[in-house]
Amino acid sequence: MSFPFEALMACRAELEAEASANDAQAVFPTHGLARLRQLGVLSAALPLALGGCWPDAAPEAAAAGLLRLLQLVGQGSLALGRVVEGHVNALRLVSRYGTPAQYAALAADVRAGALLGVWVTDGARPVHMDQTAQGLILHGQKAFASGVGHVTRALVTARTQAGTTGMLLVAVGQGCVIHPSIGGLSGMRGAGTGQCDFEGLCVSPDSLIGQAGDYLRQPEFSAGAWRPMAVALGGIERLTTVLREQLAARGRAQAPAQLARIGHALIAAQTALGWTRKAALVATAQDRYDAGDIVATVNLARIAVERAGLDVIELVQRGLGLSAFIKTNVAERLTRDLATYLRQPAPDETLCEAAAWFMQRDLPPAAAALP
Ligand SMILES: Cc1cc2nc3c(=O)[nH]c(=O)nc-3n(C[C@H](O)[C@H](O)[C@H](O)COP(=O)(O)OP(=O)(O)OC[C@H]3O[C@@H](n4cnc5c(N)ncnc54)[C@H](O)[C@@H]3O)c2cc1C
Repeated sequence: MSFPFEALMACRAELEAEASANDAQAVFPTHGLARLRQLGVLSAALPLALGGCWPDAAPEAAAAGLLRLLQLVGQGSLALGRVVEGHVNALRLVSRYGTPAQYAALAADVRAGALLGVWVTDGARPVHMDQTAQGLILHGQKAFASGVGHVTRALVTARTQAGTTGMLLVAVGQGCVIHPSIGGLSGMRGAGTGQCDFEGLCVSPDSLIGQAGDYLRQPEFSAGAWRPMAVALGGIERLTTVLREQLAARGRAQAPAQLARIGHALIAAQTALGWTRKAALVATAQDRYDAGDIVATVNLARIAVERAGLDVIELVQRGLGLSAFIKTNVAERLTRDLATYLRQPAPDETLCEAAAWFMQRDLPPAAAALP
């Protein structure tokens, strides 16, 4: 089955309208998620035999398709892009580290409508697990968990008694205490970012995915960052379009300074696309590249996309002026959403470690381009 990109492109305006309507009250976009589910977005990344869209024998074509999918969802709604990206990340981790039976069962759940998340960021009490006579018991809470109240199965990291990091696939339901808000994020208000308290939850040993330490295993741990980049790229492109449209509508697009802003925004969007494609390529062709090269290239790409996004936010705010700060202007929400989404973990470390790696060697050439 090929993915219906035309239909996804056609529903971007619907996603954007719902994101704007829901923003003030931070309501989760249930309608948009249902549309994406109906289009096959949630099962697209599965292997072909399990209901996915792209042949397993052509991983680069699959990566190009997934990049396009995440980019388009991001153009419509960064919040939904975040939720879809978390869902795809969970599938990827279980396919990589789970048993074939665990993956097949998860794929069946997804075909039946499950929404997945990856909840790693700990709350005040970091999540840990204890092996007891009663079974495996979880303690602690996750914070900044996207899609709380909507995610039905979450891949959760937890410290083991030995001090290592394990992964568990937990059915989010009875026994988990959901806090749907972390106190009012200014952007990405539709992503359902909240807390989940697992205190005392007893889970089956079958919930364990892979071996202790797998979650942090490189290059996979860093390589997967190309997917959030693809979502952010969509937001950068949408803001660039909004800048062009609004300047044209106000008869201001011909002023040389505004043309320069439009040019710089287009360059930033293209830069973000180029780096995201490079990151997706090296992350996908892991047999062709050194693990350190993959990690450092994806990390440089993360910072390049962040820089492009920050530049476009500034260009939009300076180009549109105060109107970019009026709540009824979509540019206002889009800049808030993008600024919030660009806050990814440890950016200083990401840049410095990548730079240090490439002090001794050149960036890997793109042996092939994404189709
Ligand atoms: C909308 C949204 C949804 C999210 N959804 C999820 C989710 O579903 N699951 C999940 O697990 N997480 C989620 N997160 C959390 C996300 O993955 C990151 O953990 C979070 O965004 C990190 O942001 P931060 O700016 O606080 O990062 P930090 O890493 O704290 O960085 C902040 C600044 O401090 C610097 N810094 C970092 N460490 C140090 C140090 N030791 N010493 C000095 N300086 C330091 C950084 O370089 C940076 O300049 C979400 C976040 C957002 C915004």
